[in-house]
Amino acid sequence: MDAFDFDTLAVRAGIERSQFNEHSEALYLTSSFVFENAAQAAARFSGEEEGNVYARFSNPTVTALQRRLAALEGAQGCIATASGMSAILSLAMATMQSGDHIVASRGLFGATQQLFSNILSKFGIETTFVPATDLAAYRAAVRPRTRLFFIETPSNPLTEVVDITAVAEIAHGAGALLAVDNCFCTPALQRPLELGADVVVHSATKYLDGQGRVLGGAVAGRADVVEEVFKFLRTAGPCISPFNAWVILKGLETLRIRMEAQSAAALELARWLEAQPGVRRVFYPGLPSHPQHELALRQQKSGGAIVSFEVDGGRERAWRVVDSTRVISITANLGDTKTTITHPASTTHGRISAEARAAAGISEGLLRVAVGLESVEDLKADLARGLAG
Ligand SMILES: *Cc1c(COP(=O)(O)O)cnc(C)c1O
Repeated sequence: MDAFDFDTLAVRAGIERSQFNEHSEALYLTSSFVFENAAQAAARFSGEEEGNVYARFSNPTVTALQRRLAALEGAQGCIATASGMSAILSLAMATMQSGDHIVASRGLFGATQQLFSNILSKFGIETTFVPATDLAAYRAAVRPRTRLFFIETPSNPLTEVVDITAVAEIAHGAGALLAVDNCFCTPALQRPLELGADVVVHSATKYLDGQGRVLGGAVAGRADVVEEVFKFLRTAGPCISPFNAWVILKGLETLRIRMEAQSAAALELARWLEAQPGVRRVFYPGLPSHPQHELALRQQKSGGAIVSFEVDGGRERAWRVVDSTRVISITANLGDTKTTITHPASTTHGRISAEARAAAGISEGLLRVAVGLESVEDLKADLARGLAG
């Protein structure tokens, strides 16, 4: 399948038909697989013979998802996991041991920050967080036991764009791996492995499913790294349900057209927001006013579907905008066809201190909108109601 274009791979990669020749991908809801005889059971268990044994190790529906996502990311291999967080945990457990060190960009997804600072630290793995766009800080953070660089680009909610190629060079110079959380762009807009990253992690819960139905995650990239992740997963068990894998597999078929339509709507909304009185600043990589606009144009196919903006009048005004919406859903989730709005300072970033929030640039007037597939005119009207007055 490697010779085909992205759009063809998104629809057809990973298909292996059963004896019934079904057209749509089959959903194999089975936890185990039967053997012809005792000798085959032994050969499958020892790894002498390839094939399914037990769904913690592999399942044909999960395998189809892994093959399709690997094709879309241009990865040598892929392992699907129960959620985005279990993908990140599995990568960390598979590639590091006590005493090792991570260099991570600031402004990572909240649970990723907590995983690194509060959980991995208990097992002797320390993390240094550096400003996302400060390349000198990545270099300065390197220690003799730095094994992993971990970045998310664009960042959430301020949409800072990290130079993947530059960070890959620093990571490789330090003998470390570079992992990119490609959740916001997806391979439809950004292919980190082509830019020098070793692995990509996904929360498939977001755009890969794209319709807010199931949890899932994945690690895709270099074959040797993915193999280590597989060894961890088959033993520790954070594997994905075949049902969730099937839903995400079908979601991938429409990924590019969703990402393009949602990005185009986000750009239109971002331009409109920039012109609204009462809006102090708009954060969107597709706008020329974005500090890393040039880099975003080089690295991503578009600005993505997340727009953040700061209103005058702090929390009171921001909450009024949220509460005046009739179409947009008030929820912290993102990556759905339904547009969502969140006030980071009182939700996703509510548990960190006011000083830490200010240092991270999360003001009381900041709002984040994850643009879906509704009419942009309806979205503008929805936000205009709260912005007026
Ligand atoms: C949601 C999210 C995750 C975690 O994914 P889950 O599927 O919720 O576990 C990780 N990274 C980013 C950028 C996310 O938005």
